Amino acid sequence: MIAEHPATGKKRTLALLFLCMVLGLFVAIHAVTSEVEPNAPNEQAAISVEPNDPNDKRAVRPLHKHSAFAERARERLRMVKSQIQARDIKDPNVLRAMRTVPRHAFVPPGGQRDAYGDYPLPIGHEQTISQPYIVAFMTEALSVVLEIGTGSGYQAAVCAEICKQVYTIEIVEELAKTAKACLKELGYPNVFVKAGDGFFGWPEHAPFDAIIGTAAAGRIPEPLIEQLKPGGRMILPHGRPYGFQYLVLITKDKEGKLQTRNVMPVRFVPMTGEVQKPKK
Ligand code: SAH
Repeated sequence: MIAEHPATGKKRTLALLFLCMVLGLFVAIHAVTSEVEPNAPNEQAAISVEPNDPNDKRAVRPLHKHSAFAERARERLRMVKSQIQARDIKDPNVLRAMRTVPRHAFVPPGGQRDAYGDYPLPIGHEQTISQPYIVAFMTEALSVVLEIGTGSGYQAAVCAEICKQVYTIEIVEELAKTAKACLKELGYPNVFVKAGDGFFGWPEHAPFDAIIGTAAAGRIPEPLIEQLKPGGRMILPHGRPYGFQYLVLITKDKEGKLQTRNVMPVRFVPMTGEVQKPKK
């Protein structure tokens, strides 16, 4: 048997102790990081983060910074192709949204592997997260917009990037023609231009989820109010021609009750046609 020098034994004990500490540290780090491993939703964030303040209007777009957005991306692509596009959902915004939102972060722990399946899933309390296709279908069905005052067609094009369909009316026939040609040339098949007086709206396609007016009037055309869907919103300049005007936001609640709010002072060209005639 080989005798050991006491100092060597002490060194070995210290080395062992050090090794144990390193190992302990490693285990601790692993335990912490495994909570946020790639395929799990960050429940910590969901619980500890303050809910969004509905009065804070600065946060207008989603942030997409959370690690969940980078996870399971291939499953999402496959889901969109085989479940959504295969069933004829074409709206590029809806497809983009379905590819973006990390569905697995919205299902309860343990359900992540099923998150991109073609079915609803339980979320507790006897409730379910809807089937992805149904979510896409309902989203695509939203937001049919009416614009009064096509002008160049630019605002209609901006709306068309976000909404399903844009109906837009221009009182100056030449402008309607040019805008229509421009929008067609640029490839906006979801914008429909009509030459006419926007005062009367476009009843054949009503009701609208939203109405935008881009010419100012002293009164809100009644047909537009009628053609706004319950729960819909209308934004338009209200006030005297070339005078004091406010952009007003009108909301119609489910019972049809209106609420009007001045949003900001503006100066728009006047709305012409019927609205300028004395009220009948
Ligand atoms: N949205 C336009 C801005 C147009 S300015 C753009 O992006 O270019 C307002 C437009 O409203 C003008 O083209 C004007 O001719 C039109 N207009 C005025 N009164 C109208 C009415 N009663 N019905 C439809 N268009 C009207």
